Amino acid sequence: MANYLITGGAGFIGSHLCEALLKEGHHIINVDSFTDYYSYQSKVKNVLESLGMAKDFTFTNKADDLQQLQIKVNREQYRLELVDIRSMEGLESIFQASKIDAVIHLAASPGVRASMENPLGFEEVNVKGTLHILELMKKYEVKKWICASSSSVYGNNTKLPFAETDEVNSPISLYAMTKKSCELMGYAYHHLYGIDTIMLRFFTVFGERQRPDLAIHKFTALIDQGVAIPFYGDGSTQRDYTYIKDIINGISGSLQYIQQHQDVYQILNLGSNQTYSLTSLVDHISRELGKKPILHKLPMQPGDVDKTYADISKAQSLIHYNPLTTFDEGLHAFIAWYEGGRDEW
Ligand code: NAD
Repeated sequence: MANYLITGGAGFIGSHLCEALLKEGHHIINVDSFTDYYSYQSKVKNVLESLGMAKDFTFTNKADDLQQLQIKVNREQYRLELVDIRSMEGLESIFQASKIDAVIHLAASPGVRASMENPLGFEEVNVKGTLHILELMKKYEVKKWICASSSSVYGNNTKLPFAETDEVNSPISLYAMTKKSCELMGYAYHHLYGIDTIMLRFFTVFGERQRPDLAIHKFTALIDQGVAIPFYGDGSTQRDYTYIKDIINGISGSLQYIQQHQDVYQILNLGSNQTYSLTSLVDHISRELGKKPILHKLPMQPGDVDKTYADISKAQSLIHYNPLTTFDEGLHAFIAWYEGGRDEW
């Protein structure tokens, strides 16, 4: 059994990862500062769900609530550390006190549009925060690193599907720019200090606990409430939607690979290899909800890419990645989760 430090373990992907690794018997340190990009209450709920705990939590104010959460959830196999990765000191105390076999770095400021509004804030977390992790891994000789990158690094590349060997030198958003920087930092630390690294380019992840700013969750809530949905462009933009459980299998496969191999620097696409247009996405959600959408048509936004489409053959052969969930199955599971928790908060 291994000791894993997961950053961002209260978030959408991180909470599913904690849940899966705990079930496998591993020990987890979850480093998360519960940022306000979306409600901290949702993240409290993510943590409780990931530990299989009842979600009856009385909220008062953020600081007290997070302390209460820590008291409630901390145990031998799981430790929640309320540390901001922008703080080297906070992070160092964790590295000092713990034996860590691998770091899975998911904490980030996400969101293409948000990155245009706050470029310096994105750089602080996604670039400097990542550098803090790598510096401490170097200092405390932690040699295995898995880091979240993103399909957004492909920008508007026209060769489809996107393969890891494609050139990715043209990010069209500041978010993508920070993710490409993480890939470069990982390369340099691997080269200089022998930190084995796998960079995972996630393609639009969806499913239970999905971030509320992402299209499937946002559209579901708006259609459900009878509110117009912002519909950018003519509906022909396409996304490769990947179900959360398949992503978690991809991260687990990467962990196994990195622990069994030396001298690793790999970039892997984790997608579904199937795309859906925006129009088709809205149709699917409204059919599943049994409600008609109202469209508020808007021009395409700067930073938004036309298409994402993953070539997953490298991940299939290297880590036996095998996304099995169809889009309809994943959407069905998401909407069941959404409907189950709609009135909770
Ligand atoms: P999320 O926002 O749900 O989770 C991120 C977590 O990191 C949150 O719990 C947040 O509180 C924490 N965090 C943010 N800044 C922090 C800081 N400074 N210090 C400590 N904790 C901090 O996002 P997610 O959708 O789960 O994404 C996880 C990772 O995957 C991110 O790196 C994201 O960029 C990447 N990614 C996600 C998708 C997707 O479709 N969800 C696609 C591509 C890449």
